[in-house]
Amino acid sequence: MKGCAEAHGRGPMGALPLSYLGDDVLRQVAEPVKAISSEVRKTIESMFATCAAEQGIGLAAPQVGLAKRIIVIDLSEHDLDPFCLVNPVLKRRSGPPMTDEEGCLSLPGVFLEVTRPRDILVEGRDEKGRLLRFEASDLLARCIQHEIDHLDGKVFTDHVTDGTRRDEELKALDARLVDLRAARQAAMLAGGR
Ligand SMILES: [Zn+2]
Repeated sequence: MKGCAEAHGRGPMGALPLSYLGDDVLRQVAEPVKAISSEVRKTIESMFATCAAEQGIGLAAPQVGLAKRIIVIDLSEHDLDPFCLVNPVLKRRSGPPMTDEEGCLSLPGVFLEVTRPRDILVEGRDEKGRLLRFEASDLLARCIQHEIDHLDGKVFTDHVTDGTRRDEELKALDARLVDLRAARQAAMLAGGR
């Protein structure tokens, strides 16, 4: 499925419908953004709106049906200004492996422990095309790694080592997604698309 923002109905404040595990776009390797056009900036705005509406702390473009290399991070509850990264690249992963619980808007209700390196060095562009390059640790590093995974067709449960627990959670998710997909479909129809 080739996603595009215009193919989706827009919700309140420009929020977009979410992709859920099982949607092809979540397993695709996303395309680099060639130029940060006004359309790309509009996408970024919609991604922030979606992240806020869904009370997420991060969102990758494939999660709103777009196979583009864009992520947004909103850790404003942790006193960090929201920011986006276009074409983000992890230049370094380091530090001790840290284990913490993760969740994902595309796998609603699934929370499992994931081990990731504590520290990263990341590079990308902001919405104005300016180069950003910074080190991050702990929660911020975890969020960025989680979101960049989405750009490579990966989801956090791919990293879960307790296969039994993961399979149980994913089975329960499948049942929940039946209703969620129906609700999404209804919302998109109501949006006149
Ligand atoms: Zn996610």
